Amino acid sequence: MSHLYRDTGVVLRTYKLGEADRIVVLLTEEHGKVRAVAKGVRKTTSKFGARLEPMSHVRLLLYRGREGGLDIVSQAESVEPLSPLLATLDRASQALAVLEAADQLALEREPNPRLYHMLVGVLRTIAGRTSSLVVPAFYWKLLAAEGLQPELETCVRCGEGGPEVALVAFDLGDGGVQCRSCRTGTAISPAALGLMRDVLGGRLNEALAAPESPATHEVGVLATRALEHHIERRLRTIAMFE
Ligand SMILES: [Zn+2]
Repeated sequence: MSHLYRDTGVVLRTYKLGEADRIVVLLTEEHGKVRAVAKGVRKTTSKFGARLEPMSHVRLLLYRGREGGLDIVSQAESVEPLSPLLATLDRASQALAVLEAADQLALEREPNPRLYHMLVGVLRTIAGRTSSLVVPAFYWKLLAAEGLQPELETCVRCGEGGPEVALVAFDLGDGGVQCRSCRTGTAISPAALGLMRDVLGGRLNEALAAPESPATHEVGVLATRALEHHIERRLRTIAMFE
């Protein structure tokens, strides 16, 4: 039994299937991660044209495949051109980084509209402005959305905080900052901590406007490590249940 359904999605990645077809991996608004076959897409006469390339934001009509099988793309039309993403190498690599993160966190056929909307939002941001903190900010917000908002105000070990306590380190396992006496994590500078508080405290635009500096670099490195830490732990947890 196959039936038609409509959804909107972002193409996360594609790979070849046979001579002329392509499998398109999409993050959809209502059906989570979906794998679908786009038939004839590699022919020059393809009706889908370039609409099903990675980063494309598309409105879709799909045939639901058999249980465990692939869906089939029946129609695809562009929602908006995100072509500025490809204008520079920087933007293209930022876009690929956010697609990959969304791909890692999305589950097949498990609706996660928040993730979808965050992804569309960050792709628009990348298309519209240049900031070295776009990707790190997205990672931190993804983690927060997964219930892993890091503790940035008081030491995760002893609970000390306030202006007189120097918070000097960040521990990924503990999920937050640490004071000098409890320190086990990696060093974090006051400037980097300030940027993270901006990103997660409703001052995203201020953070994105920050010029590239050692502090933005620090936030980026920490964000990547935090996301990897989370994905690894989650993959292990999933493996345990299966
Ligand atoms: Zn402490």
